[in-house]
Amino acid sequence: MNIHEYQGKQILKSFGVNVQEGIVADTVEQAVEAARKMKEDYNSDWVVVKAQIHAGGRGKGGGVKLAKNLDEVKEKAGAIIGMQLITPQTGPEGKKVNKVLIAQDVYYPGDSETKEFYMSVLLDRAKGRNIIMYSTEGGMDIEEVAEKTPELIFKEEIDPKVGLQGFQARKIAFNLGLSGNAFKEMVKFVAALYKAYESTDSSMFEINPVLKTSDDKILAVDAKVNLDENGLFRHADYAAMRDTTEEDPMEVEASASNLNYVKLDGNVGCMVNGAGLAMATMDIIKLAGGEPANFLDVGGTANAQTVKAAFNIILKDPNVKAILINIFGGIVRCDRVAQGVIDAYKELGNVPVPIICRLQGTNAVEAKKLIDESGLQVYSAIALKEAADLVSKVLA
Ligand code: GDP
Ligand code: MN
Repeated sequence: MNIHEYQGKQILKSFGVNVQEGIVADTVEQAVEAARKMKEDYNSDWVVVKAQIHAGGRGKGGGVKLAKNLDEVKEKAGAIIGMQLITPQTGPEGKKVNKVLIAQDVYYPGDSETKEFYMSVLLDRAKGRNIIMYSTEGGMDIEEVAEKTPELIFKEEIDPKVGLQGFQARKIAFNLGLSGNAFKEMVKFVAALYKAYESTDSSMFEINPVLKTSDDKILAVDAKVNLDENGLFRHADYAAMRDTTEEDPMEVEASASNLNYVKLDGNVGCMVNGAGLAMATMDIIKLAGGEPANFLDVGGTANAQTVKAAFNIILKDPNVKAILINIFGGIVRCDRVAQGVIDAYKELGNVPVPIICRLQGTNAVEAKKLIDESGLQVYSAIALKEAADLVSKVLA
């Protein structure tokens, strides 16, 4: 689950990571009020108005603006709130901005001692280890650094059983070219950041830039955080940070029905039980000349209700030209799934696309009979090859 920058910073702060302070605002009035408060607390007229969306690259898209007085805050927050912000990470349609963070300006103009670093903590699944990735070349173009000068990106592997060791944090500070107080501050920063990552069950904490000020403070100016959804049951306070307006509406609806759904761009919708079978089904669709419109695992306990919910979600996608239902009845009984399909079909009235239903396993024969006798436009198959041939046929 992704969260906003301001929420990521709240989490960081609670673990003792220094951050660029700020106050979140939903309206221009709140933004001006927040700026007034920031001025009081930090004795500076300058603030940064930062669009809060679940995507990076906001600076490049015009979603991060400096304001030197309250009039400018009003003007810039007014322009950013409600805008459709397009960044290299949003896709061409962009994302609507509903909130801004009014943050303290932490850069001292013309100061050559100010440095922007890059740092992230993430999970390397193949190695089963956490990785701290870091670079002296922080700021807005880390993707370019990774592509053109990968040698400037360092990696420190951390064994999760042992945790981050003191020498590792010192090595990072050293490789970033720091000395004296800045070195000590960076060691503390790395330790606190790693602790935040680990304690929150996150799969990623990306801070770009990590700022070193001329007076040797180290702070997180940005925070891109991905919390592992499987760990959220342990963190009700983080689960509450979910902002469904930032997520794909169909994925939100699917998760409300406990369906594991990922929207894709193809033309054949699929409904499958089990993630492995779902992947194999997507391959079958490709072999048959189609492109999967989604990944959907209805889970091992699929019943008529979940099948109906899944059906509704797939049909909302206008690109879908056919639906392939591929269920292996192990725990779930095929005839129940078939009944769910028939019920959903009847309830929806006129389903505009052909449906291929492959049910195999417990009560497969009964299921095929139910479908064949239902009088509906559903093609049934038992063997996967048959189902694939039917997909080719209906797409032709
Ligand atoms: P991103 O573009 O989505 O990664 O958003 P960031 O929070 O990283 O901000 C983008 C850029 O805005 C940073 O790389 C900084 O160069 C700049 N920026 C952020 N905060 C400040 C600030 O307090 N003062 C100044 N002058 N620039 C800032
Ligand atoms: Mn950033």
